Amino acid sequence: MRAAPVERSYVRPETIDALLEALETPGAAILCGGTDLMVKLRAGLVDPSLLVDISGLEALRGVRDEDGGIVIGAATPETELLENDAVRQRLPLLVAALETLGSVQIRNRGTLGGNLVNASPAADGALPLLLHDAEVVLASRGGVRRMPVEAFIVSPGKTQLRAGEFVQEIRIPAVDEEAVGRLHKVGRRRALTIAIASVGMLCRIREGRIAWIRLAAGSVAPRPIRLRPVEEALTGHVLDAELIPEARALAASAVSPIDDIRGTAEYRRGVVADLVAAFLSEICDA
Ligand SMILES: Cc1cc2nc3c(=O)[nH]c(=O)nc-3n(C[C@H](O)[C@H](O)[C@H](O)COP(=O)(O)OP(=O)(O)OC[C@H]3O[C@@H](n4cnc5c(N)ncnc54)[C@H](O)[C@@H]3O)c2cc1C
Repeated sequence: MRAAPVERSYVRPETIDALLEALETPGAAILCGGTDLMVKLRAGLVDPSLLVDISGLEALRGVRDEDGGIVIGAATPETELLENDAVRQRLPLLVAALETLGSVQIRNRGTLGGNLVNASPAADGALPLLLHDAEVVLASRGGVRRMPVEAFIVSPGKTQLRAGEFVQEIRIPAVDEEAVGRLHKVGRRRALTIAIASVGMLCRIREGRIAWIRLAAGSVAPRPIRLRPVEEALTGHVLDAELIPEARALAASAVSPIDDIRGTAEYRRGVVADLVAAFLSEICDA
């Protein structure tokens, strides 16, 4: 016997007001690029009564400069970000991460807003945003609130988003032009691959010392994380070859990976440790 057809409505709001009104419907879910949501829908993992399609909502699209930083509309397709001059010039780590996300077709539809709300531990878009101390701006009938991306993603599939709320934009503060960045994703192949583990670093070296450093890792904890204990231990130290074994050991113990079909916990821990060591060695030798 065939299952009864699912009763599901669809709206495509053209204003923020219409979006807020649609979100008041019980069981409503936002649909943006649909590259995560449609997969879950077809697998029967979600069953919204109303799909609220924000992919054409101009107010949530685009990239703008503000206070020296960059503000990205949550519904801006990843391809548009990759084609944006300001993003290419000032956010090379975001570019590097998005270039490894899915495929051209996926990036033509997928958005940073969707990537963050989907809250995968492997979310490629999250890593550069963690490194840049980016914030999400969340809007609802009750007003607007801001929070660090680091706090926004809680656990697999879970964020701080409340009912009736949506991600309006992502704010990336001004970038120190002297900062040095690295990012690497380890997967089974170069395209259409979910990270087995990924690591990023952004740091500022002043007179041979680490003035500040941020490290982030994906697919090695219940959410994309900053490697705070490593950052704290390295800050202020002279960057030389002696520091690297310590950084490697600290990085290995700062993550809590699991075994799954893509890789073992042990392998993932090794990848994080090796990448942190390799990034620091490269800068040390430069
Ligand atoms: C074949 C394939 C390969 C992929 N490869 C990768 C990969 O390599 N790396 C990776 O990180 N991801 C990958 N993904 C996942 C996906 O493409 C990304 O997470 C994408 O950025 C999601 O954006 P979207 O606009 O399509 O989200 P949608 O599917 O539209 O939405 C995802 C979730 O976010 C919610 N949502 C979307 N926008 C908002 C908003 N503004 N406010 C509130 N809630 C919102 C939706 O309700 C839903 O819960 C892949 C997916 C597929 C199908």
